[in-house]
Amino acid sequence: MTATTRRCPLCKNTAVKDGNKFWPLCSERCHLVDLGKWLGEEYRVPGEPDPNAVPDAPSGDGDGDGSGRHER
Ligand SMILES: [Zn+2]
Repeated sequence: MTATTRRCPLCKNTAVKDGNKFWPLCSERCHLVDLGKWLGEEYRVPGEPDPNAVPDAPSGDGDGDGSGRHER
């Protein structure tokens, strides 16, 4: 029996493939870290900072503010 091992790309520890559902990561912990990286950093479109992005843009769902805004 030869255990397939590999270096975990996250923590650089030895990851064992045998019976490891988080392969090629070494453990669930690294799996979660990897997942967090994905959601936190790389989920957004890379290389496209939007200078016009308004953090708190009103979505036009104001309370009856439609007076005098007829553009059609
Ligand atoms: Zn690891």
